[in-house]
Amino acid sequence: PAATGFVNAPNRDFSQTAERERLAQAIEDVRAKLGQERPPIVGGRAIAPREWLESRNPADPAQVLGRWGVATIADADQAVAAAQKAWPQWRRTPVAERAGMLDRAADLMEARRSELTALIILEAGKPWPEADADVSEAVDFCRFYAAEMRRIDAPVLTQRVAGERNTTTWTARGVGVAIAPWNFPLAILTGLTVAPLVGGNAVIMKPAEQTTLIAGVCYDILREAGVPAEVLHFLPGRGEEIGAHLVAHPQISFVAFTGSRAVGTAIWEAAGRTLPGQTQLKKVVCEMGGKNALIIDDDADLDEAIPGALYSAFGFSGQKCSALSRLIVLDGIYDTFVERFVAACGSLQIGDPTDPGTLVGPVIDEEAQRKIRGCIDTGRGEARLAYQGTAPAHGWFIGPTVFTEVRPDHRIAQDEVFGPVVAILRARDLDEAIAWANGTDYALTAGLFSRRPSALRRAAAELEAGNIYLNRAITGAIVERQPFGGYRMSGGGTKAGGRGYLENFLVPRLVSENV
Ligand code: NAP
Repeated sequence: PAATGFVNAPNRDFSQTAERERLAQAIEDVRAKLGQERPPIVGGRAIAPREWLESRNPADPAQVLGRWGVATIADADQAVAAAQKAWPQWRRTPVAERAGMLDRAADLMEARRSELTALIILEAGKPWPEADADVSEAVDFCRFYAAEMRRIDAPVLTQRVAGERNTTTWTARGVGVAIAPWNFPLAILTGLTVAPLVGGNAVIMKPAEQTTLIAGVCYDILREAGVPAEVLHFLPGRGEEIGAHLVAHPQISFVAFTGSRAVGTAIWEAAGRTLPGQTQLKKVVCEMGGKNALIIDDDADLDEAIPGALYSAFGFSGQKCSALSRLIVLDGIYDTFVERFVAACGSLQIGDPTDPGTLVGPVIDEEAQRKIRGCIDTGRGEARLAYQGTAPAHGWFIGPTVFTEVRPDHRIAQDEVFGPVVAILRARDLDEAIAWANGTDYALTAGLFSRRPSALRRAAAELEAGNIYLNRAITGAIVERQPFGGYRMSGGGTKAGGRGYLENFLVPRLVSENV
């Protein structure tokens, strides 16, 4: 493929003392400035909210990080009206200028990397390297989508014929809403916002409630980078209230959503209903959950497979859509694998994510903790509890949990847990393992550890997943290198961070000229 000139932002190397000290200092600085307020912002003006909610540290829920104002339906209507007025002018703004703003936003994020990372650690409970990677991904989304927009901006000749010039170009759709989850509080919100924005659309940001403070900084950075106040609005609020209202709004042209299956499918349906006053079909980009499987072949290199599986299952407490949830181990190696995997679980450092050594921090909130505990109770009734790590009693922690002797039809092998819980299944052979891996409603990530080239080729051809990983961890997609997204009940087949993604927020036009 033609080079876009895009280069991924490097992550920080925390084995360097200076880097560790820098982030430790940033955590102290953020702690010293706790208590900020984040009101909704429409057209650049802060709205005095009727209700404030608190953002708390999931590792220490007594610690209030700040307050955010709950946007109302009237605020949402005001944002749509302002955006409707402003987007035609934004669409006419040259691509060079719009893309330049994304590049500036990326530079500003880099300049504030330590502060952003510290805030992600405190508000989302993310461990150091993963909070840092969240910032890198946000930077990458800005730079990659800027590069992509420049690449697709020029008119494309469809066919060379005498006497006629036929070209296609892309144009913006209008006003849309970006509805983001809390688990990549900077990266996903940034991606869902800047992809439509650089295409000339106006965007209303609806961040997840749990990570509103970091979302507020994302908004500030985009504005500081030059994005006009009328084409970007910041609406923290309740998803089922303003989120649902915006999705159904007749003047919304697109919804960029990442989150759970229940909410995603409801959005898909609501956006399909045509209401009075609506003048166009709504486009929905819908990325949802997973029940991701990793197969361990009986000749797999366990020195590679065990750390790969451990990190995929328990990194950020399994709260990634790509996280490993089902380990399907071939019979010939099952006992050895389980013994070594369970022993390796004992090495996981569980605790406060402000400690640089922590791999398993808290889960996001009390509701998540309750839901995950419920899944563990279900698992206990179905399979054998082979390991449960000890978690701090204070804070929303769940100890890493492993079930063995799981059958493919067990609930623990079918439902997304979104926590540090892994189900191990014993498969007779590769045929059975692949059939089981494919035997859920989801198709997000999947993988295989094997030394056999024929098995690797089969996995590449037969595993039903948007992202297939061979002889490596199944999480951690990198922008442009590994375009990310699933199909079936995991999503609509769109690939964030990949070529073609921007086209979701654009419409093609053809001009045929007699020359
Ligand atoms: P969620 O509960 O679905 O929430 C996602 C967003 O939707 C939030 O901003 C939420 O607002 C909003 N929302 C809730 N109800 C709504 C409604 N009726 N209409 C419109 N918007 C509504 O998901 P989450 O707990 O934040 O995130 C975890 C899920 O995301 C997991 O299932 C995970 O697999 C998935 N995920 C998928 C990907 C991917 O790329 N495929 C990436 C990351 C996460 P509130 O905060 O106010 O509820």
